[in-house]
Amino acid sequence: MTQQPQFWGPDFGALQTEDPEIADVVVSELERLRGGLQLIASENFTSPAVLATLGSTLSNKYAEGYPGRRYYGGCEEVDRAELIGIQRAKDLFGAEHANLQPHSGASANLAAYGAFVKPGEKVLAMSLPHGGHLTHGSKVNFSGKWFDVISYGVREDDELIDYDQVRDLAREHRPTMIICGATAYPRLIDFAAFREIADEVGAILMVDAAHFVGLVAGKAIPSPVPHADVVTFTTHKVLRGPRGGMILCREEHAKAVDKAVFPMMQGGPLMHSVAGKAVALREAASADFQRYASQVVTNAQALADDLAAEGMRPVSGGTDTHLALIDLQEVGVTGAEAEQRTGAAGITLNKNAIPYDPQPPAVASGIRVGTPCVTTQGMGTADMKGIASLISRAVRDADGSQAEKIRSEVEELVRAFPAYPRG
Ligand SMILES: *Cc1c(COP(=O)(O)O)cnc(C)c1O
Repeated sequence: MTQQPQFWGPDFGALQTEDPEIADVVVSELERLRGGLQLIASENFTSPAVLATLGSTLSNKYAEGYPGRRYYGGCEEVDRAELIGIQRAKDLFGAEHANLQPHSGASANLAAYGAFVKPGEKVLAMSLPHGGHLTHGSKVNFSGKWFDVISYGVREDDELIDYDQVRDLAREHRPTMIICGATAYPRLIDFAAFREIADEVGAILMVDAAHFVGLVAGKAIPSPVPHADVVTFTTHKVLRGPRGGMILCREEHAKAVDKAVFPMMQGGPLMHSVAGKAVALREAASADFQRYASQVVTNAQALADDLAAEGMRPVSGGTDTHLALIDLQEVGVTGAEAEQRTGAAGITLNKNAIPYDPQPPAVASGIRVGTPCVTTQGMGTADMKGIASLISRAVRDADGSQAEKIRSEVEELVRAFPAYPRG
Protein backbone atom coordinates (compact mmCIF):
# COMPACT_ATOMS: atom_id res chain seq x y z
CA MET A 1 0.00 0.00 0.00
CA THR A 2 1.49 3.32 -1.00
CA GLN A 3 -0.49 5.75 1.05
CA GLN A 4 -2.80 4.87 3.92
CA PRO A 5 -5.68 7.35 3.84
CA GLN A 6 -6.97 8.60 7.13
CA PHE A 7 -10.15 6.74 8.02
CA TRP A 8 -12.48 7.60 10.85
CA GLY A 9 -13.79 4.14 11.55
CA PRO A 10 -12.71 0.54 11.79
CA ASP A 11 -10.66 -1.36 9.25
CA PHE A 12 -10.62 0.74 6.14
CA GLY A 13 -8.06 -1.67 4.72
CA ALA A 14 -10.76 -4.33 4.45
CA LEU A 15 -12.93 -2.03 2.32
CA GLN A 16 -9.97 -1.15 0.10
CA THR A 17 -9.26 -4.81 -0.49
CA GLU A 18 -12.86 -5.90 -0.91
CA ASP A 19 -14.24 -3.00 -2.88
CA PRO A 20 -11.71 -0.51 -4.22
CA GLU A 21 -14.42 1.26 -6.23
CA ILE A 22 -16.42 2.29 -3.16
CA ALA A 23 -13.26 2.79 -1.08
CA ASP A 24 -12.25 5.34 -3.66
CA VAL A 25 -15.55 7.19 -3.22
CA VAL A 26 -15.01 7.32 0.55
CA VAL A 27 -11.49 8.70 0.18
CA SER A 28 -12.44 11.17 -2.54
CA GLU A 29 -15.37 12.49 -0.51
CA LEU A 30 -13.04 13.12 2.44
CA GLU A 31 -10.66 14.94 0.11
CA ARG A 32 -13.59 16.99 -1.23
CA LEU A 33 -14.58 17.96 2.33
CA ARG A 34 -11.02 18.90 3.18
CA GLY A 35 -10.29 20.74 -0.03
CA GLY A 36 -13.13 23.27 -0.07
CA LEU A 37 -15.26 25.60 2.00
CA GLN A 38 -18.34 23.81 3.29
CA LEU A 39 -21.06 26.41 3.84
CA ILE A 40 -24.20 24.25 3.53
CA ALA A 41 -26.18 25.38 6.58
CA SER A 42 -27.57 21.89 7.27
CA GLU A 43 -24.24 20.05 7.29
CA ASN A 44 -21.56 19.52 9.89
CA PHE A 45 -18.52 17.31 10.57
CA THR A 46 -19.28 14.58 13.12
CA SER A 47 -16.64 13.54 15.62
CA PRO A 48 -14.44 10.45 15.23
CA ALA A 49 -16.32 8.94 18.21
CA VAL A 50 -19.67 9.28 16.43
CA LEU A 51 -18.20 7.89 13.19
CA ALA A 52 -16.72 4.93 15.06
CA THR A 53 -20.16 4.12 16.49
CA LEU A 54 -21.74 4.35 13.03
CA GLY A 55 -19.15 1.97 11.63
CA SER A 56 -19.77 -0.63 14.32
CA THR A 57 -21.57 -3.97 14.47
CA LEU A 58 -24.52 -2.27 16.16
CA SER A 59 -25.67 -1.86 12.55
CA ASN A 60 -26.46 -5.59 12.50
CA LYS A 61 -28.98 -5.73 15.31
CA TYR A 62 -32.72 -5.99 14.88
CA ALA A 63 -34.39 -4.27 17.81
CA GLU A 64 -38.01 -3.53 16.85
CA GLY A 65 -39.76 -2.08 19.88
CA TYR A 66 -38.26 -0.18 22.81
CA PRO A 67 -35.75 -1.04 25.57
CA GLY A 68 -37.11 -3.92 27.66
CA ARG A 69 -40.00 -4.41 25.19
CA ARG A 70 -38.37 -5.75 22.01
CA TYR A 71 -39.69 -8.15 19.41
CA TYR A 72 -36.24 -9.79 19.10
CA GLY A 73 -33.87 -11.53 21.49
CA GLY A 74 -30.31 -10.45 22.11
CA CYS A 75 -31.17 -6.78 22.61
CA GLU A 76 -29.62 -6.39 26.05
CA GLU A 77 -26.57 -4.49 24.75
CA VAL A 78 -28.39 -2.18 22.34
CA ASP A 79 -31.00 -1.56 25.06
CA ARG A 80 -28.24 0.03 27.14
CA ALA A 81 -27.26 2.38 24.32
CA GLU A 82 -30.83 3.51 23.75
CA LEU A 83 -31.56 4.00 27.47
CA ILE A 84 -28.36 6.03 27.90
CA GLY A 85 -29.27 8.12 24.85
CA ILE A 86 -32.84 8.75 26.05
CA GLN A 87 -31.57 9.87 29.46
CA ARG A 88 -28.97 12.15 27.88
CA ALA A 89 -31.60 13.73 25.61
CA LYS A 90 -33.96 14.34 28.53
CA ASP A 91 -31.16 15.86 30.63
CA LEU A 92 -29.71 18.00 27.85
CA PHE A 93 -33.02 19.48 26.72
CA GLY A 94 -35.01 19.30 29.97
CA ALA A 95 -37.58 17.15 28.17
CA GLU A 96 -40.06 14.76 29.78
CA HIS A 97 -39.77 12.13 27.05
CA ALA A 98 -37.39 11.38 24.17
CA ASN A 99 -37.56 9.02 21.20
CA LEU A 100 -34.23 8.42 19.42
CA GLN A 101 -35.48 6.06 16.74
CA PRO A 102 -36.60 8.27 13.82
CA HIS A 103 -34.39 7.49 10.82
CA SER A 104 -34.33 11.14 9.72
CA GLY A 105 -35.93 14.52 10.22
CA ALA A 106 -38.63 13.70 7.69
CA SER A 107 -39.36 10.41 9.51
CA ALA A 108 -39.60 12.27 12.84
CA ASN A 109 -42.11 14.66 11.27
CA LEU A 110 -44.08 11.81 9.71
CA ALA A 111 -44.34 10.27 13.19
CA ALA A 112 -45.41 13.58 14.74
CA TYR A 113 -48.23 13.89 12.20
CA GLY A 114 -49.09 10.25 12.88
CA ALA A 115 -49.27 10.85 16.63
CA PHE A 116 -51.44 13.96 16.53
CA VAL A 117 -53.28 14.42 13.22
CA LYS A 118 -55.65 12.25 11.21
CA PRO A 119 -55.56 12.29 7.41
CA GLY A 120 -57.66 15.14 6.05
CA GLU A 121 -57.35 17.25 9.21
CA LYS A 122 -55.94 20.77 9.21
CA VAL A 123 -52.36 21.76 9.97
CA LEU A 124 -50.96 25.30 9.99
CA ALA A 125 -47.29 25.55 8.98
CA MET A 126 -44.76 27.90 7.44
CA SER A 127 -44.89 28.10 3.66
CA LEU A 128 -42.04 26.54 1.74
CA PRO A 129 -41.08 29.62 -0.29
CA HIS A 130 -40.78 31.56 2.98
CA GLY A 131 -38.45 29.03 4.62
CA GLY A 132 -40.64 26.09 5.66
CA HIS A 133 -39.69 22.46 5.01
CA LEU A 134 -41.00 19.96 2.46
CA THR A 135 -42.70 18.10 5.32
CA HIS A 136 -44.63 21.24 6.29
CA GLY A 137 -47.25 20.80 3.57
CA SER A 138 -45.58 20.59 0.18
CA LYS A 139 -47.93 19.11 -2.41
CA VAL A 140 -45.29 16.55 -3.47
CA ASN A 141 -44.79 15.36 0.13
CA PHE A 142 -46.99 13.14 2.35
CA SER A 143 -47.78 16.23 4.43
CA GLY A 144 -49.42 18.04 1.53
CA LYS A 145 -51.04 14.92 0.08
CA TRP A 146 -52.62 13.55 3.27
CA PHE A 147 -53.33 16.66 5.32
CA ASP A 148 -55.08 19.95 4.73
CA VAL A 149 -52.13 22.29 5.24
CA ILE A 150 -52.63 26.04 5.53
CA SER A 151 -49.50 28.20 5.26
CA TYR A 152 -48.28 31.34 6.96
CA GLY A 153 -45.28 33.37 5.87
CA VAL A 154 -43.09 36.35 6.59
CA ARG A 155 -43.98 40.01 6.08
CA GLU A 156 -42.75 41.60 2.89
CA ASP A 157 -41.26 44.67 4.58
CA ASP A 158 -39.14 43.20 7.41
CA GLU A 159 -39.10 39.54 6.30
CA LEU A 160 -40.01 38.34 9.80
CA ILE A 161 -42.76 35.84 10.69
CA ASP A 162 -46.11 37.60 10.68
CA TYR A 163 -47.56 36.48 14.04
CA ASP A 164 -50.78 38.43 13.37
CA GLN A 165 -51.27 36.40 10.20
CA VAL A 166 -50.54 33.17 12.12
CA ARG A 167 -53.17 34.11 14.72
CA ASP A 168 -55.74 35.12 12.09
CA LEU A 169 -55.25 31.89 10.12
CA ALA A 170 -55.42 29.81 13.32
CA ARG A 171 -58.70 31.48 14.34
CA GLU A 172 -60.14 31.07 10.87
CA HIS A 173 -59.14 27.44 10.23
CA ARG A 174 -58.81 26.01 13.77
CA PRO A 175 -56.05 23.53 12.81
CA THR A 176 -55.42 20.34 14.78
CA MET A 177 -51.70 21.12 14.83
CA ILE A 178 -49.56 24.20 14.35
CA ILE A 179 -45.95 23.79 13.20
CA CYS A 180 -43.13 26.29 13.55
CA GLY A 181 -39.51 25.81 12.59
CA ALA A 182 -37.92 26.25 9.18
CA THR A 183 -35.02 25.46 6.90
CA ALA A 184 -34.21 28.95 5.74
CA TYR A 185 -35.33 31.40 8.41
CA PRO A 186 -32.34 33.21 9.91
CA ARG A 187 -34.13 34.73 12.91
CA LEU A 188 -35.27 33.50 16.32
CA ILE A 189 -38.81 32.16 16.48
CA ASP A 190 -41.12 33.40 19.24
CA PHE A 191 -42.19 30.03 20.65
CA ALA A 192 -44.22 31.67 23.44
CA ALA A 193 -46.29 33.53 20.83
CA PHE A 194 -46.94 30.26 18.96
CA ARG A 195 -47.91 28.58 22.28
CA GLU A 196 -50.41 31.32 22.99
CA ILE A 197 -51.96 30.99 19.53
CA ALA A 198 -52.09 27.18 19.78
CA ASP A 199 -53.77 27.41 23.19
CA GLU A 200 -56.32 29.89 21.91
CA VAL A 201 -57.53 27.47 19.21
CA GLY A 202 -56.83 24.21 21.09
CA ALA A 203 -54.09 23.07 18.69
CA ILE A 204 -51.06 20.88 19.32
CA LEU A 205 -47.85 22.91 18.96
CA MET A 206 -45.09 21.11 17.09
CA VAL A 207 -41.69 22.73 16.79
CA ASP A 208 -39.51 21.37 13.99
CA ALA A 209 -36.12 22.30 15.43
CA ALA A 210 -34.07 20.38 12.83
CA HIS A 211 -31.90 23.31 11.89
CA PHE A 212 -31.28 25.04 15.17
CA VAL A 213 -31.54 22.35 17.86
CA GLY A 214 -27.75 22.24 18.13
CA LEU A 215 -27.79 25.92 19.10
CA VAL A 216 -30.42 25.09 21.74
CA ALA A 217 -28.26 22.23 23.04
CA GLY A 218 -25.31 24.61 23.23
CA LYS A 219 -27.43 27.24 25.01
CA ALA A 220 -26.78 29.82 22.30
CA ILE A 221 -30.49 30.45 21.60
CA PRO A 222 -33.73 29.91 23.61
CA SER A 223 -35.27 26.44 23.81
CA PRO A 224 -38.65 25.51 22.32
CA VAL A 225 -39.02 22.58 24.75
CA PRO A 226 -40.91 24.43 27.54
CA HIS A 227 -43.44 25.76 25.00
CA ALA A 228 -44.07 22.85 22.63
CA ASP A 229 -46.16 19.69 22.90
CA VAL A 230 -43.68 17.99 20.60
CA VAL A 231 -40.26 18.93 19.25
CA THR A 232 -38.85 17.07 16.24
CA PHE A 233 -35.37 17.44 14.82
CA THR A 234 -32.51 16.00 12.88
CA THR A 235 -29.37 14.99 14.73
CA HIS A 236 -26.89 15.75 11.95
CA LYS A 237 -27.13 19.53 11.47
CA VAL A 238 -25.68 21.99 14.02
CA LEU A 239 -26.07 19.23 16.66
CA ARG A 240 -23.21 17.41 14.88
CA GLY A 241 -24.42 13.86 15.48
CA PRO A 242 -25.08 10.97 13.10
CA ARG A 243 -27.59 11.33 10.26
CA GLY A 244 -30.96 10.74 11.90
CA GLY A 245 -33.96 12.18 13.72
CA MET A 246 -35.28 12.57 17.25
CA ILE A 247 -38.49 13.55 19.00
CA LEU A 248 -38.98 15.19 22.40
CA CYS A 249 -42.41 15.53 23.97
CA ARG A 250 -44.39 15.95 27.13
CA GLU A 251 -45.03 12.80 29.15
CA GLU A 252 -48.75 12.91 28.31
CA HIS A 253 -47.86 12.39 24.62
CA ALA A 254 -45.09 9.79 25.16
CA LYS A 255 -47.19 6.74 24.27
CA ALA A 256 -48.69 8.33 21.16
CA VAL A 257 -45.27 9.44 19.91
CA ASP A 258 -43.57 6.10 20.57
CA LYS A 259 -46.38 4.20 18.83
CA ALA A 260 -46.27 6.58 15.87
CA VAL A 261 -42.52 6.01 15.37
CA PHE A 262 -42.89 2.23 15.78
CA PRO A 263 -44.94 0.38 14.59
CA MET A 264 -46.90 3.07 12.71
CA MET A 265 -44.16 4.63 10.57
CA GLN A 266 -40.99 2.57 10.98
CA GLY A 267 -39.77 -0.97 11.49
CA GLY A 268 -36.50 -1.81 13.17
CA PRO A 269 -34.45 1.11 14.52
CA LEU A 270 -30.93 1.79 13.23
CA MET A 271 -29.15 0.92 16.45
CA HIS A 272 -25.73 2.11 15.28
CA SER A 273 -27.33 5.49 14.65
CA VAL A 274 -29.23 5.45 17.96
CA ALA A 275 -25.93 4.78 19.74
CA GLY A 276 -24.25 7.49 17.68
CA LYS A 277 -26.98 9.91 18.79
CA ALA A 278 -26.16 9.03 22.41
CA VAL A 279 -22.48 9.84 21.78
CA ALA A 280 -23.38 13.16 20.12
CA LEU A 281 -25.69 14.10 22.99
CA ARG A 282 -22.86 13.57 25.45
CA GLU A 283 -20.60 15.77 23.34
CA ALA A 284 -23.33 18.41 23.05
CA ALA A 285 -23.62 18.62 26.84
CA SER A 286 -20.00 19.75 27.18
CA ALA A 287 -18.72 23.26 27.85
CA ASP A 288 -16.75 22.91 24.62
CA PHE A 289 -19.94 22.48 22.65
CA GLN A 290 -21.48 25.55 24.29
CA ARG A 291 -18.49 27.58 23.16
CA TYR A 292 -18.88 26.02 19.71
CA ALA A 293 -22.59 26.88 19.47
CA SER A 294 -22.12 30.50 20.41
CA GLN A 295 -19.18 30.80 17.99
CA VAL A 296 -21.38 29.36 15.21
CA VAL A 297 -23.83 32.24 15.76
CA THR A 298 -21.12 34.90 16.09
CA ASN A 299 -19.53 33.63 12.88
CA ALA A 300 -22.85 33.63 11.01
CA GLN A 301 -23.52 37.21 12.13
CA ALA A 302 -20.05 38.26 11.02
CA LEU A 303 -20.45 36.47 7.69
CA ALA A 304 -23.85 38.13 7.08
CA ASP A 305 -22.36 41.57 7.87
CA ASP A 306 -19.31 40.93 5.69
CA LEU A 307 -21.49 39.77 2.78
CA ALA A 308 -23.62 42.89 3.22
CA ALA A 309 -20.44 44.95 2.98
CA GLU A 310 -19.76 43.15 -0.31
CA GLY A 311 -23.13 44.38 -1.61
CA MET A 312 -25.03 41.15 -0.96
CA ARG A 313 -28.13 41.77 1.12
CA PRO A 314 -28.94 39.44 4.05
CA VAL A 315 -32.68 38.75 4.15
CA SER A 316 -34.18 40.35 7.31
CA GLY A 317 -30.97 42.34 7.67
CA GLY A 318 -28.89 39.63 9.34
CA THR A 319 -29.18 36.53 11.50
CA ASP A 320 -29.65 35.29 15.07
CA THR A 321 -28.69 31.74 14.20
CA HIS A 322 -26.20 29.65 12.21
CA LEU A 323 -27.38 30.67 8.75
CA ALA A 324 -27.89 33.67 6.56
CA LEU A 325 -30.13 33.96 3.53
CA ILE A 326 -28.64 36.26 0.93
CA ASP A 327 -30.68 38.15 -1.67
CA LEU A 328 -28.66 38.46 -4.89
CA GLN A 329 -31.13 40.53 -6.91
CA GLU A 330 -29.05 43.70 -6.53
CA VAL A 331 -26.00 41.84 -7.78
CA GLY A 332 -27.94 40.69 -10.83
CA VAL A 333 -27.05 37.02 -10.35
CA THR A 334 -29.54 34.21 -9.71
CA GLY A 335 -29.20 31.69 -6.92
CA ALA A 336 -28.59 28.90 -9.43
CA GLU A 337 -25.80 30.87 -11.12
CA ALA A 338 -24.26 31.71 -7.74
CA GLU A 339 -24.34 28.08 -6.63
CA GLN A 340 -22.67 26.99 -9.86
CA ARG A 341 -20.00 29.72 -9.77
CA THR A 342 -19.08 29.28 -6.12
CA GLY A 343 -19.01 25.51 -6.63
CA ALA A 344 -16.51 25.92 -9.44
CA ALA A 345 -14.35 27.92 -7.01
CA GLY A 346 -14.39 25.27 -4.26
CA ILE A 347 -17.12 26.89 -2.15
CA THR A 348 -20.09 24.63 -1.43
CA LEU A 349 -23.37 26.38 -0.66
CA ASN A 350 -26.93 26.18 -1.95
CA LYS A 351 -29.24 28.36 -3.97
CA ASN A 352 -32.34 29.27 -2.01
CA ALA A 353 -35.63 31.01 -2.61
CA ILE A 354 -36.01 34.29 -0.76
CA PRO A 355 -39.39 35.52 0.50
CA TYR A 356 -41.55 36.85 -2.36
CA ASP A 357 -39.03 35.48 -4.83
CA PRO A 358 -39.88 36.38 -8.44
CA GLN A 359 -37.81 33.41 -9.70
CA PRO A 360 -38.97 29.77 -9.74
CA PRO A 361 -37.42 27.59 -6.99
CA ALA A 362 -35.02 25.85 -9.40
CA VAL A 363 -33.49 29.26 -10.23
CA ALA A 364 -34.13 31.27 -7.03
CA SER A 365 -32.88 34.76 -6.20
CA GLY A 366 -30.78 33.86 -3.20
CA ILE A 367 -28.20 31.66 -1.58
CA ARG A 368 -28.11 30.18 1.91
CA VAL A 369 -24.85 30.05 3.85
CA GLY A 370 -24.22 28.46 7.23
CA THR A 371 -21.31 28.32 9.65
CA PRO A 372 -21.61 24.92 11.43
CA CYS A 373 -18.83 23.30 9.36
CA VAL A 374 -16.31 26.13 9.27
CA THR A 375 -16.77 26.66 13.01
CA THR A 376 -16.15 22.95 13.68
CA GLN A 377 -12.95 23.45 11.68
CA GLY A 378 -11.96 26.16 14.13
CA MET A 379 -12.55 29.31 12.12
CA GLY A 380 -13.48 32.51 13.94
CA THR A 381 -15.07 35.86 13.10
CA ALA A 382 -11.84 37.21 11.63
CA ASP A 383 -11.94 34.47 8.98
CA MET A 384 -15.47 35.38 7.84
CA LYS A 385 -14.33 38.53 6.03
CA GLY A 386 -12.07 36.45 3.80
CA ILE A 387 -14.87 33.96 3.14
CA ALA A 388 -17.29 36.77 2.25
CA SER A 389 -14.77 38.22 -0.19
CA LEU A 390 -14.18 34.82 -1.81
CA ILE A 391 -17.95 34.28 -2.15
CA SER A 392 -18.42 37.75 -3.61
CA ARG A 393 -15.67 37.30 -6.18
CA ALA A 394 -16.94 33.85 -7.17
CA VAL A 395 -20.58 35.00 -7.45
CA ARG A 396 -19.57 37.85 -9.78
CA ASP A 397 -17.25 35.67 -11.87
CA ALA A 398 -19.62 35.39 -14.83
CA ASP A 399 -17.18 33.84 -17.32
CA GLY A 400 -15.46 31.55 -14.82
CA SER A 401 -12.08 33.12 -15.52
CA GLN A 402 -11.38 33.65 -11.79
CA ALA A 403 -12.54 30.24 -10.57
CA GLU A 404 -9.12 28.62 -10.54
CA LYS A 405 -7.50 31.52 -8.68
CA ILE A 406 -10.31 31.68 -6.09
CA ARG A 407 -10.16 27.91 -5.65
CA SER A 408 -6.46 28.05 -4.83
CA GLU A 409 -7.14 30.78 -2.23
CA VAL A 410 -9.92 28.62 -0.76
CA GLU A 411 -7.51 25.71 -0.53
CA GLU A 412 -4.97 27.88 1.22
CA LEU A 413 -7.56 29.08 3.73
CA VAL A 414 -8.89 25.63 4.61
CA ARG A 415 -5.38 24.16 4.85
CA ALA A 416 -4.99 26.11 8.10
CA PHE A 417 -8.26 24.61 9.44
CA PRO A 418 -8.31 20.97 8.36
CA ALA A 419 -11.59 19.10 8.63
CA TYR A 420 -10.50 15.73 10.01
CA PRO A 421 -6.78 16.32 10.54
CA ARG A 422 -4.50 13.97 8.65
CA GLY A 423 -2.95 11.28 10.86
C1 LIG B 1 -33.47 19.10 7.44
C2 LIG B 1 -34.89 19.31 7.86
C3 LIG B 1 -35.81 18.26 7.91
C4 LIG B 1 -35.57 16.90 7.30
O1 LIG B 1 -34.52 16.19 7.70
P1 LIG B 1 -34.04 14.91 6.84
O2 LIG B 1 -33.14 14.21 7.79
O3 LIG B 1 -33.39 15.45 5.62
O4 LIG B 1 -35.25 14.11 6.52
C5 LIG B 1 -37.07 18.51 8.44
N1 LIG B 1 -37.41 19.73 8.86
C6 LIG B 1 -36.57 20.77 8.80
C7 LIG B 1 -37.01 22.10 9.28
C8 LIG B 1 -35.28 20.61 8.29
O5 LIG B 1 -34.47 21.64 8.22
